[in-house]
Amino acid sequence: MIAENIRKILSTLPSGVQLAAVSKYHPMEELMEAYEAGQRIFAENHVQEMVLKYEHLPKDIEWHFIGHLQTNKVKQIVPFVSLIQGVESLRLCKEIDRQAKKCGRIVPILLEIHLAKEDTKFGLSFQECENLLSDSEFLALGNIRLDGLMAMASNTDDMEQIRAEFRTMHGFFLRIQDRLKESNPGFSILSMGMSGDYLTAVEEGSNLVRVGSSIFGARNYSR
Ligand SMILES: *Cc1c(COP(=O)(O)O)cnc(C)c1O
Repeated sequence: MIAENIRKILSTLPSGVQLAAVSKYHPMEELMEAYEAGQRIFAENHVQEMVLKYEHLPKDIEWHFIGHLQTNKVKQIVPFVSLIQGVESLRLCKEIDRQAKKCGRIVPILLEIHLAKEDTKFGLSFQECENLLSDSEFLALGNIRLDGLMAMASNTDDMEQIRAEFRTMHGFFLRIQDRLKESNPGFSILSMGMSGDYLTAVEEGSNLVRVGSSIFGARNYSR
């Protein structure tokens, strides 16, 4: 079933769009099913769970962290994480940089933009993002690499609202990409779209989708 789901999703994604399988709360056997179907990018939102899975599963898996990352837990994932999606403060950037330096790594990150209407979600406003990108302290961090932006749309069934939010986000992404084209030509990732809206996200310019329940089924939060 998992292999079949992955094949279906991949068949709908244009080339150049990457699939991160959101495996949070799912047991390692299920991740292995996805792995055997060829999936290599997995995304988790709890540090402890990601570390445990990293330790037990094949080493060619690329681990993306997608949750709210606490500064005191950064050091546990920095040795192996492939991409930290959802960085939203200078403080967190500094801590990732500090830990990355200790292990001799340059850690790729995405900045998370607050796109949704509800104020429960994390992330930077467009203005805060622009400010961070010109902050001399941010620019001095040599052990993080800004690969792009990440955003979540509002939690609504109104697909036209979701589409409009993704479109606005893509416009902002292109503006930043243009601004960074000399200093950071690798700035290229726009992470948008989950099970319910990834096709819309891709139509509106996403090139990294984060899909969980459409691959693994519903999550069991009571474990
Ligand atoms: C859980 C999660 C997803 C996946 O959600 P599904 O609806 O199960 O596809 C995507 N992005 C983030 C940030 C998440 O926390």
